[in-house]
Amino acid sequence: MNVAAVRVIPVRLRFAQPLRTARGEFTERASVLLELRDAAGAVGYGEAAPWPGFGTESVEEVEASLRAAEHLLLGASLQPGKWPTALANLLAGRPAARAAVQGALLDLDARRAGRTLSAHLAASAGSTCGEPLSRVPVNALLTARDAGALFREAVFAREAGYRAVKIKLGSDAVTSDVARLRAVREGIGPSIRLRGDANGAWSVRDALAALEAFAPFDLEYVEQPVAAPDIDGMAELRRQAAVPVAADESVASESGMLRLLAAGAADVVVLKPASLGGAGRALELASLARRAGMRVVFTHAFESAVGALHALHCAAAWGDAEGVHGSATAGLFEADVAAPPGCHDGYVAVPVGPGLGVTL
Ligand SMILES: [Mg+2]
Repeated sequence: MNVAAVRVIPVRLRFAQPLRTARGEFTERASVLLELRDAAGAVGYGEAAPWPGFGTESVEEVEASLRAAEHLLLGASLQPGKWPTALANLLAGRPAARAAVQGALLDLDARRAGRTLSAHLAASAGSTCGEPLSRVPVNALLTARDAGALFREAVFAREAGYRAVKIKLGSDAVTSDVARLRAVREGIGPSIRLRGDANGAWSVRDALAALEAFAPFDLEYVEQPVAAPDIDGMAELRRQAAVPVAADESVASESGMLRLLAAGAADVVVLKPASLGGAGRALELASLARRAGMRVVFTHAFESAVGALHALHCAAAWGDAEGVHGSATAGLFEADVAAPPGCHDGYVAVPVGPGLGVTL
């Protein structure tokens, strides 16, 4: 395909509620959209949503990379998987910018082929993917601090149809987390999956004790019990802990993912296409994980509707009918670049396309 026009569009979105993380509080999200257009007027969108603390470049570096990529993209005859050397070199070590370029090319290619991005991704990935899903089950993120409010949130999530819920752990004493998990399990009942996320809060020893204390609540897994670089610690937990462990921050970069795979250091990997160079590469890494006996959960990286739809199509293309993926982004921002995919009965419907299924 030939690219006839390129637009690099910096975006700042205000969070509806400030986002509290281990690295401080954020009120807005900066990212960069890439729009590609062919001579016939077909358009493709990608998004670079960098998260520098987790191994990607900064938003300034993203914008510079995409502006430098403009003249390499314009007029070039391109295939999503086969890039000219100069473009590949420019985007080496730039996973967020690479995700934008790969995403926009895939979206454009899928629209030209008249099929959804998920069908297009699944066809390109071949037998590593199942049948693409028309809707993707996601977990509800329960955010209340105290056990009573968490119980009410848990009941609400069950009644809303969610098949899995997730809470943050590790910011208080283990006894307090135990009380919170008990409240959630009582609220959701025995059959809904319960996930925890410690965001690297513990040492290996503390994690072993915490997970032992959590065992009665039948957790599906706990994300990132120890700090992201501690792959040996993750491996030890996978062997010894009373609850399955998932890697999230540890696999935010491709190098981290490859180290974790080599060490067999998790039961589950939580993959963000935005920080792994795009959906195409994320699906390749997912199939490596499956071959290593790990389950895969796809999630967003607090992108606009464009990036959120790329992550959604990626999860749909993976085609795991048993998988429940990361939470939906609807309602995350005061205003978005397009309507973000909405969540009903615990599922996010995949737009019927073509491509991403959204126009800006
Ligand atoms: Mg996490």
